[in-house]
Amino acid sequence: MGLDEYNRKRDFKVTSEPPGELGAKRREGEPRTYVIQKHAASRLHYDFRLELGGVLKSWSVPKGPSLDPAVKRLAVEVEDHPMEYGGFEGIIPKGQYGGGTVLLWDRGVWAPQGDAEKDLRKGELKFVLQGEKLSGGFALIKLKGKPNRRPGSSAQAYPDDRGWLLIKEKDPGARPEAEIDITAARPESVATQRTLEEIAADRSYVWHSNRERLDAAAVEGARAASLPESITPQSAHLVRTVPDGDEWLHEIELEGERIICRGEKGRMRLLDRAGEDWTKRAPAIAGAANLLPATSLIVDGVLAALLPDGTTRRGVLDEALRGRGPGKLAYFAFDLLFFDGHDLSGVALEKRKELLKALLARVAEPGPLRFTDHVAGNGAAFFEGACRLGAPGVVSKRRDATIAARSKKKAAGTRGKGQKVPAKDATWRVVRCG
Ligand code: MN
Repeated sequence: MGLDEYNRKRDFKVTSEPPGELGAKRREGEPRTYVIQKHAASRLHYDFRLELGGVLKSWSVPKGPSLDPAVKRLAVEVEDHPMEYGGFEGIIPKGQYGGGTVLLWDRGVWAPQGDAEKDLRKGELKFVLQGEKLSGGFALIKLKGKPNRRPGSSAQAYPDDRGWLLIKEKDPGARPEAEIDITAARPESVATQRTLEEIAADRSYVWHSNRERLDAAAVEGARAASLPESITPQSAHLVRTVPDGDEWLHEIELEGERIICRGEKGRMRLLDRAGEDWTKRAPAIAGAANLLPATSLIVDGVLAALLPDGTTRRGVLDEALRGRGPGKLAYFAFDLLFFDGHDLSGVALEKRKELLKALLARVAEPGPLRFTDHVAGNGAAFFEGACRLGAPGVVSKRRDATIAARSKKKAAGTRGKGQKVPAKDATWRVVRCG
């Protein structure tokens, strides 16, 4: 179907919805994302969207999904939506197509049972969801013949060949509707835990045309480049005292796995310091990164298990990766090295973090991707507070530091491999508590 119909129906000068661009083709075997958006338009419905072929295949489900295999929910096929739309939660201005409030009801990854493109054409798509509210087998079955449309009933005013049924498969995730109505039991946003009413009341979520795509080319120090093959994460030098002065930014040290999240849109991969691929171990993180509005990205951060008390512990990460234990899996991003076809190594750290924060804000937080915030200056007091809260330590970074300076010296041969930067020159430093 493509995105022409989606683009034709929207005025991007008024609405804050992202303009549609075809995403990159996905490689074999990589997880595809899905989202369900609860949409209070002229009629309340749930928009069920499966990523396929660089777009979100979409159905409008008036009653939303059910966990009961005996319940068949009408799903009206609508136009394909751009990938960027999957992270949208907020208010679409009145008078715009689909005007109303959008709540991110569920998200995750999905896998077809067979050949998705072929099954869609056949009108019988069976698939497995791994999301925050839904999981297990589901099927979309195209209705044959004309739907039973009563004259004057706008509820079924859709072209005759667009009717499908969304049905839960019989598996351990199935529950009778009498036991649980999932839409009533879990009405909240998976992104912000808010209700539809709370989103509708929050005028700051009306996004306008001046909040367009972030412009990488306009960032001072950014350089147009192709995505580098590999990247060595910047290391922090262990020191005894937290540096003083306002030229330092301080972050809480997190216990987890240092992970570089990198790739082109729809093909984000998670790599550890040794270059080992973690993408399949944390598909929800890679899936969320694929929803970020960027054509290409390199993000630096820590994959961690967040405990109910707000701390992270390396010991519970493996369990969290298997969906077990007390920790909730999250990726704490703290640096943006490459964005939308631009190398940011010549950009000051503080600016890189500003851009990263704005980028992550495009997908509503708190999701599986988190921005690692910092304080400027007051290092000693920050360190004391962090240790009291049970943090393993504090990482201090020069706010004006670029990455370019270091690699240029390397290239010129003045600093050989394995030769360490003297601690007094280190732009990233770590101080441990206790
Ligand atoms: Mn809708």
